[in-house]
Amino acid sequence: MNLTIATISKHINASFEGDASLLIDAISIDSRSLQNGPHTLFFALIGPNNDAHLYINDLIQQGVTHFVVQYIPEHCEGKAQFLVVQNTLTALQELASYHRSLFHFPVIGVTGSNGKTIVKEWLNFLLSPDYSIIRSPKSYNSQVGVPLSVLAIAKQHNFGIFEAGISTVNEMGHLEKIIQPTLGILTNIGSAHDEGFSSIGEKIKEKLQLFKHCDLLIYNKNKTIDAFLKPTLKTFSWSFKDATADVFIQKSSILDKTKLHIQLESYAFDIIIPFQDDASIENAIHCLMVLLHLGYDRVTIEHRMYLLYPVEMRLKVKDGINSTTIIDDSYSSDFQSLKIALDFLESQKQYKKKTVILSDIFQSGLSNEELYSKVSQLVISNKINRVIGIGTTITAFKHKFVNCITYPTTADFLAQLDNATFGNETILIKGARSFHFEDIVVALEEKTHETVLEINLNAISHNLNFFRSKLQPSTKMMVMVKAFGYGNGGFEIAKLLEHHQVDYLGVAFADEGIALKTAGIHLPIMVLNPESTSFSAIIQHQLEPEIYSLKGLHSFLKIAEQKKLKHFPIHIKIDTGMHRLGFEKDTVEELIAILKDTTLVRVKSILSHLATSDDLNHQAFVESQIELFENLSSRLMAELNIQPIRHILNTSGISNFPKSQYDMVRLGIGLYGVSNDAEEQKELENVSTLKSVISQIRTIPAGDSVGYGRRFMAEKSTKVATIPIGYADGIARLWGNGVGYVMIHHQKATIIGSVCMDMLMVDVTAIDCQEGDAVIIFGESPTVIEMAEKLHTIPYEILTSISQRVKRVFYRE
Ligand SMILES: *Cc1c(COP(=O)(O)O)cnc(C)c1O
Repeated sequence: MNLTIATISKHINASFEGDASLLIDAISIDSRSLQNGPHTLFFALIGPNNDAHLYINDLIQQGVTHFVVQYIPEHCEGKAQFLVVQNTLTALQELASYHRSLFHFPVIGVTGSNGKTIVKEWLNFLLSPDYSIIRSPKSYNSQVGVPLSVLAIAKQHNFGIFEAGISTVNEMGHLEKIIQPTLGILTNIGSAHDEGFSSIGEKIKEKLQLFKHCDLLIYNKNKTIDAFLKPTLKTFSWSFKDATADVFIQKSSILDKTKLHIQLESYAFDIIIPFQDDASIENAIHCLMVLLHLGYDRVTIEHRMYLLYPVEMRLKVKDGINSTTIIDDSYSSDFQSLKIALDFLESQKQYKKKTVILSDIFQSGLSNEELYSKVSQLVISNKINRVIGIGTTITAFKHKFVNCITYPTTADFLAQLDNATFGNETILIKGARSFHFEDIVVALEEKTHETVLEINLNAISHNLNFFRSKLQPSTKMMVMVKAFGYGNGGFEIAKLLEHHQVDYLGVAFADEGIALKTAGIHLPIMVLNPESTSFSAIIQHQLEPEIYSLKGLHSFLKIAEQKKLKHFPIHIKIDTGMHRLGFEKDTVEELIAILKDTTLVRVKSILSHLATSDDLNHQAFVESQIELFENLSSRLMAELNIQPIRHILNTSGISNFPKSQYDMVRLGIGLYGVSNDAEEQKELENVSTLKSVISQIRTIPAGDSVGYGRRFMAEKSTKVATIPIGYADGIARLWGNGVGYVMIHHQKATIIGSVCMDMLMVDVTAIDCQEGDAVIIFGESPTVIEMAEKLHTIPYEILTSISQRVKRVFYRE
C-alpha cells in the first residue's frame, strides 16, 4: 500500500492538521508489534476490553508519527499527527474499501460455516502457478481482519481470495463493501443454531449479503439456500444428489483416497483427491468448481487436485532441544504470513535470543531484489539475532542479512546440523511446503512420547476477555497461574497474560513465582502460601507475599529489617469464613498495631476468599463473608490511613456476585475454559486437549480378556486398541473398566479393563481406525466437566493431575 495522508484523510472523513504529503506504506492496529515505524499509520481501535489510545504515547516514543484516533490522548497533542474520526474501526474499513476499489482483477469472496480457510488456502495452491495472488493471511476474516487483509493488496497482484466470517446480523454488509468480490463461494451453512442469529433463515440471508454484487456464486445446491437466492444472482452449483445442479458428482473411495466422477452438461471425467473425510471432499469440490469456472482443462484439474494437502493453520509452540522454544510454522511461506509469524514470535519468546529458519519465498509477485530487501527490513525491525536461510534464492540474497547462514536444501541443513549450535533461544521455523520443514521441527524438537496436552492460546485470550467484559472498567484483574497454570503450563500462559496486560499473577508457592520471574515475566506476582523459609527468596526475586498470620508477619518483618527494606509490598489475607488461611477477626487489632509501627512493609492489597461462590444455595453465607470483609478491611484502611487494592472474588464469584468486585478480582479456572454455570460455559472456549495415538490394534475372540486382573471379558469378537497413556500421566483408574471413553475419529471408544500405569485399552470394534491414529482423551469431548462428574470430583483436579511427563504444546489458530 502506498497512499498519502491527504488521500487517506479524505476517504476516512478525518479532520487533520499538518503535513498531508507523507506517504504511508503500512497499517497497524497492534501496539506491541515491532514492525511499527515512521511510515506506519496506526489505527487506535477501541474494543470491549481494550482501548489502543492508551498506548499512543509509547508508540510515539518508538517512532510512530501518524495515528487515526477518536480523540487525541492527554499529553500527546503536538507530538504526532492525528487524523481524528468518529469511529476508528469504521475508518479502517472505509480505507480498505477505497483501497480495494483501486484494483480491477478477479476477487473471490468465501464465506460459510466451515472450511473457509481451507478453501482459500487450496485455491491459492491451485491457482498460484498462473496468478499473482493476494489472500487473507491465516483466518483473518473478521471486521478487523478483512480490512487488514485487503489493505495488503499491491500493484503486483492480479487475483484476490478473501474469506469473510460473521457472528451476527448486519456484519456482512461491511465486509462486502471491503472485499467487493466478483466471484462468490458459499462453503456450507451449518445446521447449528448460532448465538448471533434468531433463525437459520436469518443466518443464510446475512451470509448471502457477501454475494450482492458478484457475477457468480458457487455453492452446493440445496433447497433451503435456494429459497433465499435472488433470481438475478447467477449461480454455478454442484450436488451429489440433485441432478439439476450444474455439476453432478458421484464419489467412491479407493484405498485412502476418493474418486470423484464429475458430470457437466456436455462431458464427464474422473479425478482423484487424496482425502476421504466428508469435509475435505466438500472443500475440494468448491475449489474444483472454481477451476471449472475459470476454464481449466481436465488434465490440469486432475493433476493439481491430486496434489491437495492437509492445511495446517496453526502456529505451534513446542519445547526444543537445549532449552529452546520452537515456533512451528512449517507449512507456508509468504510475506504476509511471515509478518504475522514474527509478531507471534515476539509475543511468545521465552528466550531473548531469536533465530528464524526461513525457506525461499515463492510467488510474491515482487522481484527477488525487492522481496529480500523487504524481508531483511522485517528481520531487522523484529530484532532477529540470526537467520538460517534454506533454498537457492535466499542463498543468493544472503548479503542482505546481517547474521545469516544459508543452505541450498533442507537435506543439506539436516546433514550438517550440529545440535550444539542451538540453545537458549526461540526459533521460528517457517518454510514453504515443498521444503519439508517439518523434518527440521522433528530434528529440533525435544523428544518425548506421543501423548501431548495441546493448549489453545486463542481460547485463553477469548476466556480472559469474556471475564474482563464482566468487570467495571476500573476493576483490576489478577490471574491465578498456580499449579503450573492449572496444569496447562506456567510460563507460556503467564507470557500471554502479560501480553494482554493483566494486572497481577497469583501463584501458590514461592518457587512457582521464582520460575516465572527467572524466565522473564515482569508482571507483579502474589504468592498465596509463602513459607517463612522462602521469604528471603521472595524478596530477592521481587515477589509479593500474602501474609495471613501474626506469626508470618513477625518473621517477614524480621527478614525485612535485616535486609533494610522500605515499603516492601505485602498482601493481607483475612479469614472471613473459609477457615483456611487468613487473619481472624480478633487478631486484626494487633495486626493494625504492628503495621502502624513499621515502614518496612506496605499493604499493597487486602483480600479474602469465598467458600461457596459457586453455589447459590449458600448465597447468604457468601454475603456474610463479604460483609465481614467490608468491615475488617475498612477498619484496616481507616486505622492505617491507606488505600490498598481490595479483592475477594474468584471465577464463580465474578459471575455470581458482580457487585463485590472491589478493586480487583482473581480469575482462575474460568481462564482455562471451565465454568460451574451451564449458560456461562457456552460462552467459554475449550483450552486444553489431551491427545495420544493408537500404539497397537488387535482383535480378540469371545471369551478372551483384556488387561490386569482380566477385568474385561469379551462377550463377542472385539477389536482392541492400546493407547500409551495411563494413571502415571494423570488418568484416574476409576475412569477405566467401562466408565470412561476416548474419542477416535469423532467416535466414542469405551475404555475396557483397568487403566494401567502407562497405557489403557479401548474397544474400537465399531471404529474404522489404524495404528498411529489420533486419540482424544479429553477436550471438546469428553470435556473435563463431564469426566469430573462421572469421577465424583471437580475439573480442577482433572486438569492439575496431568503429569509433567506429558508434553505441553501451545498453539494459536
Ligand atoms: C485458586 C484461587 C483463586 C481462583 O479460584 P477459581 O475458582 O479457580 O477462579 C482465587 N483466590 C484464591 C485465594 C485461590 O486460592
